[in-house]
Amino acid sequence: MQFQPVFEKKERPILIAGPCSAETEEQVLETARGLKNVGIDLFRAGIWKPRTRPGAFEGVGAPGLKWLQRVKKETGLKVTTEVANTQHVFAAMKHGIDVFWIGARTTVNPFSVQEVADALSGLDVPVLIKNPINADLKLWIGAIERIYKAGITKIGAIHRGFSFHGETKYRNNPLWQLPIELKRQFPDLQIICDNSHICGNRNMLQKVAQQALDLNYDGLMTEVHPTPDNAWSDAAQQITPHRFGVLVKELVVREQTTENTSFLKTIDFLRHEIDEIDAQLMNLFGARMKLSDQIGEYKKENNIAILQPSRWNEILEKAFAEGEEKNLSKRFVETVLRAIHQESISHQTKVMNEEGSRQSSVQQSAV
Ligand code: PEP
Ligand code: MN
Repeated sequence: MQFQPVFEKKERPILIAGPCSAETEEQVLETARGLKNVGIDLFRAGIWKPRTRPGAFEGVGAPGLKWLQRVKKETGLKVTTEVANTQHVFAAMKHGIDVFWIGARTTVNPFSVQEVADALSGLDVPVLIKNPINADLKLWIGAIERIYKAGITKIGAIHRGFSFHGETKYRNNPLWQLPIELKRQFPDLQIICDNSHICGNRNMLQKVAQQALDLNYDGLMTEVHPTPDNAWSDAAQQITPHRFGVLVKELVVREQTTENTSFLKTIDFLRHEIDEIDAQLMNLFGARMKLSDQIGEYKKENNIAILQPSRWNEILEKAFAEGEEKNLSKRFVETVLRAIHQESISHQTKVMNEEGSRQSSVQQSAV
């Protein structure tokens, strides 16, 4: 896929802001006027709202599109809204909406994305595609492909975090590795961080926005409301236009690259060292798996399926203690060790079940 930029502007960040939902004409216009002063690139407002449960405010619907037309006329700002079906696409097109976005609850469903793609076919409108609610990069890419196949080349991605069951400080877990992998596969895809839906509250918006910029994101999408506490949807995460202006001012925009030769030399040297260490890690992993293979052979010869949960515990505990000394988080140590353990199990399962195996039980602990 070969994407065209949705936003031509070269300096970062690209700023998309506006209320979660269009509520009244006055609220929409007041927000837009405030944001015009901040200097944004695209004004957002949800017209049709996909709510988790029926009965919550489901958006003002098509009449709100006229309010967005007024925003364009009065402020000159370009406008965007979420579309989730054929009827939305046609209504939004008719009212001159400049950019469409596909929401997380739509991206998750290939039938819906295909319906939107079919409706878009032959139209010339940029589309921003939010990640699906679940952490599935292929589903996100699949949605991008469906829209691309409809002939739309101005496509961007919005990272709004992933639904998470359990304790987390975020409303939606960012799982930064997924958008980073998306950007690695499609370097010319502009990527926007929706810090509002990642955070779900006001206090972390700045931090998450800064992190996105530090990770080379192209821009931000933030929910802004004149009186956030009274918002009809997503009240806890919205901020005033003034506060959004402060957030933007406080962002540190780092250069993507530099011509400074001494900087380049130093970074080159450090990267070389990192490459060296990565190569050593691979060698060590290889050596460790050879040992696992040997253990597998030995178990096979002796027809033993060794169950040793205590050994696994012992390894984990030791690694946590060592990791702490080296400033490695418990989560990192555990993830790495589990991956190694899983690979050991695969190696030993293979060895033990090769031709001539006398037993077929899969060992529970392969360490
Ligand atoms: C929104 O942008 O208001 C919205 C509904 O977001 P998401 O699709 O990310 O949940
Ligand atoms: Mn919202």
